[in-house]
Amino acid sequence: MKILVINCGSSSLKYQLLDMETETLLAKGLCERIGIDGHLKHQPQNGKPVFDEDIALPTHTEAIAAVLDKLTSAEYGVVADMSEIGAVGHRVVHGGEKFASSVLIDDEVMAAIAECIPLAPLHNPANITGIEACKAVMGNVPQVAVFDTAFHQTMPGKAYMYAIPYEYYTDLKVRRYGFHGTSHRYVSARAAEMLGKPIEELKLISCHMGNGSSICAIDGGKSVDTSMGFTPIAGLPMGTRCGDIDVSILDYLCQNTGKDVKTITNELNKKSGVLGVSGVSSDFRDLSKAAEEGNDRAALALDMFAYAVAKTIGAYAAAMNGVDGIIFTAGVGENDAATRAAIGKYLGWMGAKVCPGCNAKRGGDRFINTSDSTVKIMVIPTNEELVIARDTKELVEK
Ligand code: ADP
Repeated sequence: MKILVINCGSSSLKYQLLDMETETLLAKGLCERIGIDGHLKHQPQNGKPVFDEDIALPTHTEAIAAVLDKLTSAEYGVVADMSEIGAVGHRVVHGGEKFASSVLIDDEVMAAIAECIPLAPLHNPANITGIEACKAVMGNVPQVAVFDTAFHQTMPGKAYMYAIPYEYYTDLKVRRYGFHGTSHRYVSARAAEMLGKPIEELKLISCHMGNGSSICAIDGGKSVDTSMGFTPIAGLPMGTRCGDIDVSILDYLCQNTGKDVKTITNELNKKSGVLGVSGVSSDFRDLSKAAEEGNDRAALALDMFAYAVAKTIGAYAAAMNGVDGIIFTAGVGENDAATRAAIGKYLGWMGAKVCPGCNAKRGGDRFINTSDSTVKIMVIPTNEELVIARDTKELVEK
């Protein structure tokens, strides 16, 4: 079965077409500036040329139509016609407490995703738009929703509750949900394979470090705690998000700047994190360069990030009463050896030792711990699309 995986944003649409007999990528691409003007980059993996041009994309429906046109075209295509695409898997950001696993999409599921809009006002509407656009263009091809939050639904109350009046949980659903669940699920399963042990017997800590970053404690294959919270702003300082801060800062800043809550919240999401501290960039490559050139604030931002990651790893080792493996993934986790080394400096006490030689090497799934490290340390490139395609195949074949 060939499965189209869609990750829809408010003005963008990322896609991959996978052949699930062999789990190989047939094509991938990105529509951008949907609703503004439009651009499509389509990259077939069969040697045919890349298409990378501005094209009119007034809505997501035209974007899906353009993607299908390229996937089936003589010049850029990878399949003969649309009937070869057996199903579509969508990344959906928020499933609230309704969805602890992926589901086949029907009217009831659409209504439930819509019900979660107040919890993810920027993301869920875009995901719904993507699903509706596929329905408009592809008719009755089965569609599956895979939620970023689902993997974390196994967290116990002590981890997901906030110590605020209980009614805010019961009436307004305020609790920790966690995100990046598909990534944490993929890398933890892969880590178990690399360690040659059933995941049920392992205590793992997965560090997804990209533009957005979160850490997850995975005990016996189940998420038992995670650093993102009610929204993705919580936990670590990120590219542009502040991470955990004292909540009183919000009121204090409003009082003393004359800005309203929305404006400050927007600054905490988009102008904070390592960008806010450094004043240089949200990109770790720019920060390392600036730090090397003597920029103290860039160096401070990098220090703050590594320190926060290490503290969270320590907390999760305590939460699980031990740890067998630590995993680094996503843009920074997969590529930034200096940040991994900086985090590793805090972890010797728990028997987790980064091997400088292995850490400096690039590559795919790999161990980067020393031979005497009692905790295994792994770099595992994440593959959320593959998880989405696997779930989609499984649900459609049922
Ligand atoms: P997203 O959260 O948007 O999916 P990614 O997981 O792709 O992000 O991570 C993007 C980040 O990865 C970039 O902002 C950059 O800081 C970092 N990154 C990518 N490559 C490198 C590299 N070679 N060295 C250091 N950082 C890198």
